[in-house]
Amino acid sequence: MKALTYTAPGRFELIEKPKPEIIDPKDAVVRVTLSSICSSDLHILHGVVPQAEVGITVGHELVGIVEAVGSAVTKVKPGDRVAVNVETFCGECFYCKRGYVNNCNSGGWMLGCHIDGGQAEYVRVPYADNGLTPIPDNVSDEQALFVGDILATGYWAAKISEISEEDTVLITGAGPTGLCTLECVRLYKPLRIVVCEAYENRREFVRQHYPDVDVVEPTECLEVLKSLTEGRGADRVIEVAGGEDAFELAWRYARPNAIVTIVALYEKEQILPLPLMYGKNLTFKTGGVDACDCDKIMQLISEGKIDTTHLITHRYPLSRIQEAYDLFASRADNVIKTAIHPD
Ligand SMILES: [Zn+2]
Ligand SMILES: [Zn+2]
Repeated sequence: MKALTYTAPGRFELIEKPKPEIIDPKDAVVRVTLSSICSSDLHILHGVVPQAEVGITVGHELVGIVEAVGSAVTKVKPGDRVAVNVETFCGECFYCKRGYVNNCNSGGWMLGCHIDGGQAEYVRVPYADNGLTPIPDNVSDEQALFVGDILATGYWAAKISEISEEDTVLITGAGPTGLCTLECVRLYKPLRIVVCEAYENRREFVRQHYPDVDVVEPTECLEVLKSLTEGRGADRVIEVAGGEDAFELAWRYARPNAIVTIVALYEKEQILPLPLMYGKNLTFKTGGVDACDCDKIMQLISEGKIDTTHLITHRYPLSRIQEAYDLFASRADNVIKTAIHPD
């Protein structure tokens, strides 16, 4: 089968590999019907993900049809349509039992990083009962494509931000994960949502699809926030942008005693200048997604409460995935997300 493979730092190649097989009773093999490219894939390409192993098939956002299951798999059977979870997790260890599946003792972000992922024709999914989410008949592959990764991230970011209906919530960054976060923040019906985004085409995308949201550029963000909150700043800040000054701006935009949730994956170290923020009494929540709510997210999609299909702006066959990478990396042609289908 064809598989996009991390062959060297700075290089992904579409090469021929054997079709994966069941190697553990808890495994499933999934035939990939749609996959996508994530900015984390670009981080691997740029060599800034130390746990990424040369030789692995990349890709961790995908949906497909179960091809085979091991003897211990009970949740899915061959022929089922499923979304694949970015996290591999056992469901039984100290962290999994508490919902912190990102920190699973025998898992975490494995697919497309530490083990073969899904920018391929087939993928083996360990702990399939945890790693696969059945797709209801009224949900299309495109609707389900982001459930296991960026939508899981957005849902988790909104959940841990403890949003109330009185809050002004600031989301910094209107890239794919920022937009998924926006979809999920809306579920909490906050008083106001402000989206701060540096690129005009992405600001326009938000205005077009979310007319009830305030959209600002970084230079005007603090001023607009202050005018909306009697000078206080945002009650909740969710930092998804990850750019050069994004972390500093995130805590500066927050009012005293706010919660600042950091979802962004930075390519450089960030500074937490405690003397400057002394007395601001901020609560920071940080890190990688605990993708433990995928069944709930799928249900919300099925009920029409979350819809991310408009994020798919470009479609390519697997044989042309390198073109999709070039487009996604360059942000040309107003791309938000690409969908990769089998040839
Ligand atoms: Zn990702
Ligand atoms: Zn575990």
